[in-house]
Parts: sequence; C-alpha cells; structure tokens
Amino acid sequence: MIYLDNHSTTICDPLVVEAMLPWLTQDYGNPHSGHRAGVAAADAIDRSTKSVAKLIGASPETMVFTSGATEANNLAIRGVCLHPRQKRRHIVTVATEHPAVLDVCEDLKRDGFRVTVVPVIPAGSPKAGVVDLDRLADAIDDDTVIVSVMAANNEVGAIAPLYEIAELAHRHGALFHCDATQVIGRIPINIAAADIDLVSGSAHKFYGPKGIGLLVVGGGNRRVRLRPEIVGGGQQRGLRSGTMAPAMVVGLTRALEICSQSMESDRASVLAMRDRFWNRLRGGIEGVELNGPSLDGSERLVGNLNLRLASVEGETWMAAAPDVAFSTGSACSNVDPMPSHVLIAMGLSESEARRSARFGIGRFNTMVQIDRAADALIGAIDRLKKLI
Ligand code: PMP
Repeated sequence: MIYLDNHSTTICDPLVVEAMLPWLTQDYGNPHSGHRAGVAAADAIDRSTKSVAKLIGASPETMVFTSGATEANNLAIRGVCLHPRQKRRHIVTVATEHPAVLDVCEDLKRDGFRVTVVPVIPAGSPKAGVVDLDRLADAIDDDTVIVSVMAANNEVGAIAPLYEIAELAHRHGALFHCDATQVIGRIPINIAAADIDLVSGSAHKFYGPKGIGLLVVGGGNRRVRLRPEIVGGGQQRGLRSGTMAPAMVVGLTRALEICSQSMESDRASVLAMRDRFWNRLRGGIEGVELNGPSLDGSERLVGNLNLRLASVEGETWMAAAPDVAFSTGSACSNVDPMPSHVLIAMGLSESEARRSARFGIGRFNTMVQIDRAADALIGAIDRLKKLI
C-alpha cells in the first residue's frame, strides 16, 4: 500500500512513539496528583506546553489540550458564542470550512445566532479556493462575535491570508478563530504576530498520535472569554476538565518539534515529489485537470494535489487502484455520499466534483513510491477506459 492521504491523517512517527512510551508504562502518575509520580507527569506536560507554545508563537498560558481539532473547533466557536456575557449574535465563516466548523455554526442557529457563510474564489482563478476577502469584509459587522476561517483547506490545500483576516475581524471588534489543522507542522505559523485569537490543531496531521489536539485561547491581543464544553475537575484552567494525558501531550510535542526542525527540508522534498507526481499523471491520463489554487503560487500547501478526471469518478478510480491510499473528499465526510462541499463551493458541478480525487504527499513518502503510485493510477485509468 502506498499511502498518499496525508491530509486525512499521517503515520505516527516512530520517534514520537518512543518519546511517549515511558509516560504510559513507567511515569504513569496522574498529572493532577500531588505525589512525586504526579509531579513528574505534570512537569512533562509543563515542559511540553512551553515547547509547543514557542513553536507556534503563543504563550503557554493560552494552550488547552483537547481530543483533536473537532473538539478544539467546537470549544472555540461554541465557547465564545455561548459565554453568558456574550451579547453579539452573528457568526462569519467560509463555505469551504471543515464540517467541524460549519456544523457547529449551523447548530448555533438554534441558539439564535445568525450565520453568514462567505464564498471562496471560484475555480479557474490561480487563487481558486481562497476566501474572497472583499466578501469577507462585507460580511463582518458590529454584531459579529467570531470570524472562523481555516488556515489551509484539507481538500484543495488553499492557504488563507491570516494577517488580513485578523485585521478585518478586529476592525469590528470580532474575534478571529483559525482552524490551523492542516498548517501546524507544515508551514510556519506565528499566532501572536498574526494576532489570531483562537487557533485549533490536531497532532495526527503532523505525525503525532490520533486523539490529541490543541486550542490556543487568547493568542492575539484581545481577552477571550470561553464557556467550557466539558466541566468536571476543573483541569486546564476550567476550560477542559478531565485528567490530562501526559503521553499524548508529549507525543504531540515531540511530533511538532520534529516537524519544526525538518520543515524546510520536508517542504523541498514534498514539493519535488508533488511535481513529479503531477507531471507523471498529467502525461499519462488524458484530460486530467487540477482543482484548487495554482501549483506555482504561495496559496497552496505543497503536498496537496486535487485532480479532476475527464470521465471516471473518483470512487471508481479508488476501487480500481486499491494499492494506493487516496480519497475523494475528506475522510470525515466519507460516510456522506454527497460530492465534496469544497469543490461545489468553488463552482464545480456535481459531476465534476464526483470525478475528483485528493492526494496528500508527506514526509514519509519517497520518489520510488510516487513513481509506483503514478504507474498504478495510470494503469487503473487505462483499464477502466477499456471497460467504458
Ligand atoms: N479541521 C480540518 C481542517 C481537518 O482537516 C480536520 C481533519 N480532517 C479536522 C478539523 C478534524 O480533526 P480531528 O479529526 O483531529 O478532530
């Protein structure tokens, strides 16, 4: 199996697993206990929190560890909107956000919130899939509580202009929440410099374990008041109760440290693999097109390739090339037979969206794998064409 679905999840780096193990089997104290075993675990969490905060331009006091980005997004948006002192009643988000943002906003309508969903730049433009800043500016008003825009899209890799978005949100006194799940560990982010109030992330997207993520609360210049979603023992400043998981926190941290050390070289090697892959597929599959931003600009994650076939559906392609792991949308919506909401939001027809497939190339891929995957994928299309 050649794994080219690194936007969905990534392998947990063996070095990360190694760093985690002692916190499961040797130093297994409850980090909230007062004895030596507990203090050792609490210290590990403390050191980890400081390290992660430094790597993303946040202060340690702003960090909350969650079960992943879904929980972080829920806590950020629901937490801000449902705080008892919140008077504003309008949410602004973007059509291509992850369901963990869109569905939260939709749900808040039942609590009396208005939601404006801003469009993205349509297909055909070099910035296809990037939020339309003019429309975003028009949408934000003095009743806007929060503006939620992702840092990079998980299907087409479109990267958002975070500094500009922060400025637009703050001009009206709204908070800026950024789902940075696809960016943390892949491209540098400095939350304080970009003045982003809330930032979500998830370790399994950057070679850490599944089941842990983070939310930065108050990463910018404004005070952020959150109503907690999970109450109980009052851990994590009361924002997320429950015994913290030292091994998971250490794993997330080690994963991010490794990503930060190798970010430049990873970017270069992933880019080289992406270019080779695209050139091979383009040469071997008639009529294949690119979805999303141009490959040569800075508006696209380098490991992302989202392709549209001339006559074969993505699902059919997947079935015909079972040795390559890729997807037809986000894994999270695979239970849902609808075509990708991201591609539809970019103006593609349902049929075009169904003829699309997403690839995510990562640090653990090799050029040999890229060539083998290209052979398998081109071969699959050739076989399918004979059947039509
Ligand atoms: N946001 C984005 C942009 C994502 O790509 C994902 C994972 N597909 C999530 C949120 C949800 O992350 P998790 O699975 O860690 O809850």
